Amino acid sequence: MSRPIRVRFAPSPTGPLHMGGVRTALFNYLFAKQNNGSFVLRIEDTDQNRYVANAEEYITDSLNWSGIPYDEGPGKDKGFGPYRQSERKHIYKQYANRLVDEGKAYYAFDTSERLEFHRQDHQEKGKTFIYNWHNREKLVNSLSLSVEEVNKRLDSGEKYVIRFKTPTDLKLELQDQIRGKIIIDTNTLDDKILFKSDGMPTYHLANVVDDHLMEISHVIRGEEWLPSLALHVLLYKAFEWDTPEFAHLPLILKPTGKGKLSKRDGDKLGFPVFPLSYTNEETGEVSRGYREDGYFPEAFINMLAFLGWNPGTEQELFSLEELINAFDIQKVGKSGSKFDVEKTKWFQHQYLVHTDSTSLAVAFVPELENHLGENHGFDQDYVARVIDLLKERATFVRDFWELGDYFFIPPDNYDAKASKKGWKDGTDSLMEDLIKILREVKDFSSKNIEDQVKNWITSNEIGFGKVMQPFRLSLVGALKGPHIFDICELIGKEETISRIRTAVDKLPLSAT
Ligand code: GLU
Repeated sequence: MSRPIRVRFAPSPTGPLHMGGVRTALFNYLFAKQNNGSFVLRIEDTDQNRYVANAEEYITDSLNWSGIPYDEGPGKDKGFGPYRQSERKHIYKQYANRLVDEGKAYYAFDTSERLEFHRQDHQEKGKTFIYNWHNREKLVNSLSLSVEEVNKRLDSGEKYVIRFKTPTDLKLELQDQIRGKIIIDTNTLDDKILFKSDGMPTYHLANVVDDHLMEISHVIRGEEWLPSLALHVLLYKAFEWDTPEFAHLPLILKPTGKGKLSKRDGDKLGFPVFPLSYTNEETGEVSRGYREDGYFPEAFINMLAFLGWNPGTEQELFSLEELINAFDIQKVGKSGSKFDVEKTKWFQHQYLVHTDSTSLAVAFVPELENHLGENHGFDQDYVARVIDLLKERATFVRDFWELGDYFFIPPDNYDAKASKKGWKDGTDSLMEDLIKILREVKDFSSKNIEDQVKNWITSNEIGFGKVMQPFRLSLVGALKGPHIFDICELIGKEETISRIRTAVDKLPLSAT
């Protein structure tokens, strides 16, 4: 029987989670769900220097908001915890020791000054210093020193690291679900540190040990970890453990396609790169987030899914359920995918249009109250009907105010250019006639108003533009907005007439 599918998202809590991190989490989540597997969150916080206190909470909040909560992780122990590496410190040393005992790793006592000297020295000679097979016996470690000397140094408490003794002369064949076969010559690798002099494991050791102990079946992570793959596979071999499957996701590129989308880009280029807004507690600097910018999590997730993957069909809108069914890790591309802010807005627009107007009305309440106070007097049904008319033109919920404030308050000024063009000699009396026509409309519904107004226009051969432009200007304040008779129906007969009357009093502006 094949092993159960278990994947993990293993961020380091060094700051807010970049949207690339959410994409990694998403692909792990989709893969887990489509295989009845488990999606594990592991916090890789062994590097205490880079630790940021509120980052873990930010990570879980981001996953929850995105709708991809973890099944297993901090606070949800399913027998493989603890899930924070800082709480697993006691575990790693024995594994490093085991490799030393088996001759697969070694103690190294080289001071950082000495190593720096070697680096400089090599650089001056136009070479690069690599701690590996070809010089390890000449450096200060348990391969070059006698057993007595090593024990003496260890007993006296001298600082040391444990390095991996990379096997030599091997053409290592690696398999990646996205990239296929990769061959690495182990002689090009360095002897990476597994255990640091501060008593903490490095990322490499902790990551491999935990993936093994947590029975991770598939490691799905960003391309930046591809260079570590050979070492990780060699570690699995050294421990004689089953190697998980690997998939390294392509980079997310800047909109120009040049270079990786960085944490700094969002604020620089005017779009969010973080799922949630983030306040740096040290500097007070605030970075914008998709949530606060008004994106729906479903749109954010749909957009992210398409950064590196596509279903191979025309379909672009996918619910999370549909993504779970359609996602195929093998179909993830190798090359970086460009982030496209317009496409991101397009996804948001699509989700907005497909959300029922009553829910949008609820979401719009705070914005409405913001402008009109709590006692604005508009019921939810009215707001929903307004939204029905506006949503084709909107991207975010907050847009409804900008697009349709005139549904809630009469215009307090009139677009100057449009007034000049649309309000001519004779317009005042035409508007007076229009008021009379409107007064006569019994059932003040869009269709009815339209029939009667148009009938009046055609039977008197007035010309549509002559009426419709000033009519719209009176109601809206500009020549924009949905079907004018829909606006009339919504704001009602009295308000429609009162707005025309006000416009007659105030316009034309050009005359003043
Ligand atoms: N802690 C690593 C990171 O911050 C995890 C890499 C991996 O998934 O192996 O991305």
